[in-house]
Amino acid sequence: MSRSEELFREAVTLMPGGVNSPVRAFGSVGETPRFIASAKGAYMTDVDGNAYIDYVGSWGPMILGHNHPEVLKSVMEAAANGLSYGAATESEVKMAKLICEIVPSIEMVRMVNSGTEAVMSALRAARGFTGRNKIIKFTGCYHGHTDAMLVKAGSGVMTAGVPDSAGVPEGCTKDTLSAEYNNLDSVRTLFENCGEEIAAVIVEPVGANMGVVPPEEGFLEGLRILCDKYGSLLIFDEVITGFRLSLSGAQGYFGITPDLTTFGKIIGAGMPVGAYGGRREVMEMVAPVGAVYQAGTLSGNPVAMAAGLAQLTILKETPDFYENLNKKGDWFFSQMEKLLTDAGVPHCLNHIGSLGCVFFTDKKVTDYASAKTSDTTAYGQYFKHMINHGIYLAPSQFEAMFLSAAHQKERELAKTLEVMGAYFEKNN
Ligand SMILES: *Cc1c(COP(=O)(O)O)cnc(C)c1O
Repeated sequence: MSRSEELFREAVTLMPGGVNSPVRAFGSVGETPRFIASAKGAYMTDVDGNAYIDYVGSWGPMILGHNHPEVLKSVMEAAANGLSYGAATESEVKMAKLICEIVPSIEMVRMVNSGTEAVMSALRAARGFTGRNKIIKFTGCYHGHTDAMLVKAGSGVMTAGVPDSAGVPEGCTKDTLSAEYNNLDSVRTLFENCGEEIAAVIVEPVGANMGVVPPEEGFLEGLRILCDKYGSLLIFDEVITGFRLSLSGAQGYFGITPDLTTFGKIIGAGMPVGAYGGRREVMEMVAPVGAVYQAGTLSGNPVAMAAGLAQLTILKETPDFYENLNKKGDWFFSQMEKLLTDAGVPHCLNHIGSLGCVFFTDKKVTDYASAKTSDTTAYGQYFKHMINHGIYLAPSQFEAMFLSAAHQKERELAKTLEVMGAYFEKNN
């Protein structure tokens, strides 16, 4: 038995599913999770000494590759000065300034400890500012595990949202309305029904939690127009897309200005960090200035700020960083497309910049319903082959592949394509 298997056997007796976050359990691909001992650049090494080219990147944060020397140095220096004070620090001012500088829609920001917390707090601020309760969310978009966002997919456009998890009272989701991604009509119908009650529309500007589903032409613009018409706020959940598609995230990439934005993942460079921010008048609703209460003992933690500041500074100051990363993504995913097509594998490969995903379906994937037509058994087999050949993919059909600056075209990407190509040739 491998050390990973031994650890997993013990882990399941001590933690639900043996893990601290469900997708790590590898349940949907029928494998045993690999226990990771270390990571560097594009690689992770497990406790049995197997090395993997990593396309999860801690679910996004590792855009520079694992354990970047400047990020590490910054963290070590901060840690040497103390781990937390529960008091104001200079690094928080630097972080706030940097975020406001690189994301034009953000006039004020509040740091929190996770993407979930950022979303929960942004929704509260939107409700406090508008004095309204209802939120529109899109089926298949993930906004963390806060009660109001755990609604059943496709619960119908007119009705109150139904909880999608045990332990969430109906009262917590009754003000969450579901619309379909890339379907403006479904949003328009909700606004026509109860536009004056809608506090906000929250959206992943690129769907990246049902696999990768980019917005169609006009979709995000249409949301902006509808929100303006009804006096509702537009919230971009950029926990994945922030600092990923461009320095100023999806909003910079597509040229759409949301009222509020949530961040996570890349902003903490691997430390537990989230943030929400936006228009000054909305953010001034937040305590201690305004009546919307929100707090955090470890928010703006100095070690976490040091990690995020170092990473964001590199992203900001490296010339052509995003142009190069996105070009590399275009190249990689077009090669992958060619392998799938040549082998005759039914597929839909969606990609944007350094995010991509192959759905094993012959349908075009534009929303949750079409994503769900994928053959998840086929994905599981593909995953198994890849991980056994040293390529670590997301252990679920409905997640993205994350490329980083550390993945080199001639090395890691070429090797990955070789392993993929051999598999698709045999399994079409
Ligand atoms: C990961 C994610 C979240 C939740 O962030 P956590 O840090 O896991 O709480 C929220 N929104 C989106 C779009 C995400 O991808």
